[in-house]
Amino acid sequence: MDAQRISIDHLKSDFAGRVLTEADAGFDAARQLWNAMIDRRPSAIAQCRGTADVIQAVRFATALDLPVSIRGGGHNVAGHAACDSGIMIDLSQMRTVHVDPQKRIAVVEGGATWAEVDRETQAFGLATPGGLISETGVAGLTLSGGFGHLRARHGLTIDNLVAADVVTAEGKLVRTSADENPDLLWALKGGGGNFGVVVRFEFALHPVGPEVLFIAPIYAVEDGPGPIRAWRDYVAQHDEDLAMICEFSTVPEDDDFPREAWGKKVFALVGIATGAPDAAEALAKPLRELGPLVTDFSGRMPYNDIQRLFDAQTPFGEMRCYWKARYLTDLPDEMIDLAMENALRAPSPNTISSLWNMGSAVRSVPPGATAFGDRSMGWMYSADGVWANAADDDANIAWARDSWACAEPFGHEGRAYLNFPGHGEDSALTRAAFGENYDRLARIKAQYDPGNMFRFNQNIEPQ
Ligand SMILES: Cc1cc2nc3c(=O)[nH]c(=O)nc-3n(C[C@H](O)[C@H](O)[C@H](O)COP(=O)(O)OP(=O)(O)OC[C@H]3O[C@@H](n4cnc5c(N)ncnc54)[C@H](O)[C@@H]3O)c2cc1C
Repeated sequence: MDAQRISIDHLKSDFAGRVLTEADAGFDAARQLWNAMIDRRPSAIAQCRGTADVIQAVRFATALDLPVSIRGGGHNVAGHAACDSGIMIDLSQMRTVHVDPQKRIAVVEGGATWAEVDRETQAFGLATPGGLISETGVAGLTLSGGFGHLRARHGLTIDNLVAADVVTAEGKLVRTSADENPDLLWALKGGGGNFGVVVRFEFALHPVGPEVLFIAPIYAVEDGPGPIRAWRDYVAQHDEDLAMICEFSTVPEDDDFPREAWGKKVFALVGIATGAPDAAEALAKPLRELGPLVTDFSGRMPYNDIQRLFDAQTPFGEMRCYWKARYLTDLPDEMIDLAMENALRAPSPNTISSLWNMGSAVRSVPPGATAFGDRSMGWMYSADGVWANAADDDANIAWARDSWACAEPFGHEGRAYLNFPGHGEDSALTRAAFGENYDRLARIKAQYDPGNMFRFNQNIEPQ
């Protein structure tokens, strides 16, 4: 331990960013992740300022044979960004985004959040598909897929990833694109943080907004499944334009909602329509007339505002969480009923659960084209337990696991979305998620990380 201590001091002395150990002020804040349940204590946290720091931290970990975890936005519910007794490579100080509006490319540093990407790209009326919350990290969300509002037309986030710069386990910087090391780019498109530290992503951009139509009618669960059945059928007919979620929640005591609805179980049909105003309004109208409304937040607004709308619901490091999602082949009435029953019995008012349709651009990508694998599922179901007190851990984790398990008969080949991984306890899900792509991923892993240095993730063992 003394030798390690001396070495960490050595790393500290020649580092552009900060290296934090337990003795340093700021250590506890730096190891804090979005999920308040995660409490890991790395030997050191290397808050990198640039690529040279990342290379140095990786080489240092190799020399001391220490495990390495990588922190992007810190939002992974399983807490993979932090490890016990290893080096946490923290990219939260590397958030620069550079946009080339002519080439329609954004170059994004590995610790950026979607807030930085959306701000810089929307300055030019451009966007790339991210997630639904602006504070989520670009890196983790991208590397395991990326489901957001723009997926109907522009696919998953990975479908827009055109190049990346990666620091490998050897401490070398490798460029990957369609022309250079294309296998690595393929692997990054869904294979997670297995292949090295991505210091820069390059994304294709598309004209979006700046104003788009936000769709968010809210219906009461007690009024029955009619609106969800009609929504299911409608989005299936319009899946080139509409990729949405049906999100179950409990109405908060908030003056934005009618007082008589406070505490009620509801579902919101949430999405955006990016087309011309009249066409977008016409497309959304039937979804806003599916039954008695609790309220309706639909309206035209800046794309950037929509991306930030739900941030306040999900404060960093305050709530305890267990989220787990599975793909569904179809969405039969029985699965809708089940989702409603699960929502009604959720033990915490902060819990949400949701049904997502895929959207046409997501489904059009062949299984072998990205590591992510098969896209033939029509839907995803996610049970997202969120609660405040440790005393309620067991009840809430049991609810999420049970909700997830009882949707199994409607599942799609036992596959799950790896960005909602529970607490990462089910490694069989990783293999199942990749299907026939797993063996190729394991070979690429062996090429870039033969010693499995990067193993705090949905791990692919080198083959
Ligand atoms: C509030 C909230 C909202 C969400 N909304 C969505 C959504 O709308 N759509 C969606 O698809 N997902 C969503 N997610 C899930 C999200 O995609 C994952 O939690 C994802 O892991 C977050 O990425 P991060 O960089 O913040 O994570 P981190 O916890 O920082 O990292 C997670 C893992 O990613 C890898 N990693 C991180 N940075 C790098 C890097 N630079 N290089 C290599 N590997 C790296 C590492 O393996 C790390 O352990 C949401 C999660 C939360 C908590």
